[in-house]
Amino acid sequence: MFPRNARFVSTSTSTLKVTAQKASPTAAHAPLSALPTRVLLRSFLVATISSKPLLLRTSLWALSILSKPNRGFLLGVDRNPILHGILKKTFYEQFCAGENGAEAKATIQELKDMGFRGVIMTYAKETVFDHGTNTEQGLGISESESQEGYCANIEAWRKGTLETVEQLGNSDYLAVKLTGAGPSVTEAFASNSVPPKQFLEALEEVSNRCKERGVRIIVDAESQHFQWGILRVTLDLMRKYNCDGYALVYNTYQAYLKSTSETLAKHLAASQQEGFTLGVKLVRGAYMASDKRSLIYDTKEDTDNAYNSIAQGALKQTIGDFGTKTSFPSVNLFLATHNKESVMNAHHLHKQRTAAGLPTVPVGFAQLHGMSDEVSFSLLALKDSSGTPEVYKCSTWGTMGECLAYLLRRAIENRDAVLRTTDEYNALKAEVRRRLGAAFSVSSR
Ligand SMILES: Cc1cc2nc3c(=O)[nH]c(=O)nc-3n(C[C@H](O)[C@H](O)[C@H](O)COP(=O)(O)OP(=O)(O)OC[C@H]3O[C@@H](n4cnc5c(N)ncnc54)[C@H](O)[C@@H]3O)c2cc1C
Repeated sequence: MFPRNARFVSTSTSTLKVTAQKASPTAAHAPLSALPTRVLLRSFLVATISSKPLLLRTSLWALSILSKPNRGFLLGVDRNPILHGILKKTFYEQFCAGENGAEAKATIQELKDMGFRGVIMTYAKETVFDHGTNTEQGLGISESESQEGYCANIEAWRKGTLETVEQLGNSDYLAVKLTGAGPSVTEAFASNSVPPKQFLEALEEVSNRCKERGVRIIVDAESQHFQWGILRVTLDLMRKYNCDGYALVYNTYQAYLKSTSETLAKHLAASQQEGFTLGVKLVRGAYMASDKRSLIYDTKEDTDNAYNSIAQGALKQTIGDFGTKTSFPSVNLFLATHNKESVMNAHHLHKQRTAAGLPTVPVGFAQLHGMSDEVSFSLLALKDSSGTPEVYKCSTWGTMGECLAYLLRRAIENRDAVLRTTDEYNALKAEVRRRLGAAFSVSSR
C-alpha cells in the first residue's frame, strides 16, 4: 500500500513516480514553515548579516582575505580549527552541502525531506579569472606539475566529480565547473584549443556514469575568459548524449551577456539541424565583479528583460525565427534564479499553455541552497497533481578552502541585491515571530 498522502506524478521525461505530498495548508500562507527550526535560525542569522551593510562589508572583507591562496595557520580555514568551526556552523552550512560524501548525502536527504524534487550538486573546485588584474586563481587546485599524458589536477577533478555522482539519485542533477580540472584545461579554454585528451575522456566517463544512474548534467557558466571553450565542449557533449528525446546534458546561458541571444540562436540551429535536445539552464550571470564590464548589459533592467524574454520565448516556443519562420527544436529548460517575478511569470505561463494544450517545453526551477527560501517554498506550495512546478535546490560540496570562492560570490550577490536581501530578512523574521507566537500560545493554554 502507498501512504495516504502519496500520489502519482508525471515528470518532464514522462516517467511515472510515486511521491509524498509535502504541501500543507500552512505552506500557502507561511511558505517558510517547512524549514527546520535549526535551519531557520541559521538563515535568520545570515540574512541579518547580509541585510546590514556594515556587517556585510566586514564579512566580505574577511572572506576575501581568507580566500587568498597560501594563508598561514591563523588564517588557513582548513588548518585553524577555531576559524574552521565558526565558518562551518555559519556561512558554510548555510550555503554548502558538506566537506565529504557522508555530510553531503545527509544534506541532500534533508532538502528532499523539505519537499524539493531533487538537488543540483556541484563539486566546488574552480578557477576564477579576474579581468581587472588579468590573473586567474584556482581554488582548491594544487600546483602539481603535469607529466607527459597525465595531469594530477584532471585526475583529482575526475575523482571528485565521480564521487559527486555517487551521492545523487535519478531525480538529481550533477553540476560541473569545468575549470576545476586545472591549468592545462583552462589554458585550452582560454586559447580556443582542444582540451587535453585525459580531460575529454574524464568528461565522457562522468557522462556515461550519470546516464547509468539517471542523473542529468548541468555544465556551469564561468568567467568569460573560459566560457567560449566551455560552451563548445558542452555542445559536443549534447550532440553525443542528448539524442534520446531529452537533455542528459545542459549548457548554462548567462542572460547578462550582450552576446547570449546570438549564442543561443546558434545552439538552437545546431540542435534543430543535428536532431539533439538542447539543454538550456538560464541564469542572469554571477561574474560581474571579475568579468569585462563592456560585455555585460549596461543596466539591471536590460539583464532582466533579456532573462525574461529568453525564458518566456522558450516556454512559448518562439525565439527569433525559431517557432515562426522555422520549427522550434527540442529544448529542456531550467530556470535558475532567485527573482520571484521571473519565476512566477514563467511558472504561470507554463501552466496556462499546458492547460490550453499549447506547445511548450519541460521546465524546472532552481534556487541556491541557503538563498531565497521564500521563493523556493512559495513555488513548492503551488505544486499541483501533475507534480509541477518541479523545484530544486542547488548546493556545493568540498572542503572549506575549496568552497571559499563560492561563498565569497554568494556574499557579493547579497550585497548587490539589497532589495531581495531585505525581503528575505523580513520573511525570515516573520517566520521566527510566527513560531514564537505559536509556542507562546501553546504554553499559555
Ligand atoms: C541554481 C542556480 C545556479 C546558478 N548557476 C550559475 C552559473 O552556472 N553561472 C553563473 O554565472 N551564475 C550562476 N548562478 C548565479 C546567477 O547567475 C545570478 O548571479 C544570481 O542568481 C542572481 O541573479 P537572479 O536571477 O537570482 O536575480 P536578481 O537578484 O534579480 O538579479 C541579480 C543579477 O542581475 C544582474 N545585474 C545586477 N546588476 C546589474 C547591472 N547593473 N547591469 C547588468 N546586470 C546586472 C547580475 O547578473 C546579478 O547577478 C546560478 C544561480 C542559481 C539560482
